[in-house]
Amino acid sequence: MEHKAGCLICGRDLVYGEEPRDLPCAVCGEVVNTAVACEAGHFVCDRCHGREALDLIEQFCITTELEDPLAIACILMRHPAVRMHGPEHHFLMPACLIAAYCNRRGEPGRKGGHLERARMRASMVPGGACGTHGTCGAAVGTGIFVSLITGSTPLKKQEWSLANQMTARSLMTIARHGGPRCCKRNSWLAIRTAITFLLERLGVNLPVEGVVRCEFSDINRECLREECPFHTGYRTG
Ligand SMILES: [Zn+2]
Ligand SMILES: [Zn+2]
Repeated sequence: MEHKAGCLICGRDLVYGEEPRDLPCAVCGEVVNTAVACEAGHFVCDRCHGREALDLIEQFCITTELEDPLAIACILMRHPAVRMHGPEHHFLMPACLIAAYCNRRGEPGRKGGHLERARMRASMVPGGACGTHGTCGAAVGTGIFVSLITGSTPLKKQEWSLANQMTARSLMTIARHGGPRCCKRNSWLAIRTAITFLLERLGVNLPVEGVVRCEFSDINRECLREECPFHTGYRTG
């Protein structure tokens, strides 16, 4: 679904310059000689424009140096491969949290392995599980994240507890806002919950700043509009 014109990273207008210049692709990092970039200087190569959702998410999270998981999520959601609703959000959740967390801790080299495992685990969570299993996949995504960074297994004690608490807290927050499902609202709520959890339980402070204002309400038939906290803008910092 083509839901946005303009820059895939920030939404600003694209500028077609007269002189081509070398710019790194904002998704894969490859330097390409190009005459087009957005007003803020972002460029996305043709290959990354055409990526399917899960590859895009994994590739961008490996490349990005951002430490704000909400900012990472919003960039990925703007790409046309990420649908309004869909199970790609189940991977998007742990992916943007893994990227922000590892970048914040100065361990970007750990992202690749975590992302690979998160992608496999997220693929086991079916679309629509929020309605059919009472378990939103975005919330499960935060549990996948905590289980990966703590090294939880079914036999662990503290790590096992933390991972299950993470999912439980995300689910409570998501449930309180009521249906129908919105993969954007649920994802932002889950990330907010994970940020608070990381600070309280693991002492990791991810920098978040700015306002998340939903850009998707026009293409979401079931949008709660004024009843959604992100409809008019939700201050995150
Ligand atoms: Zn841009
Ligand atoms: Zn690229």
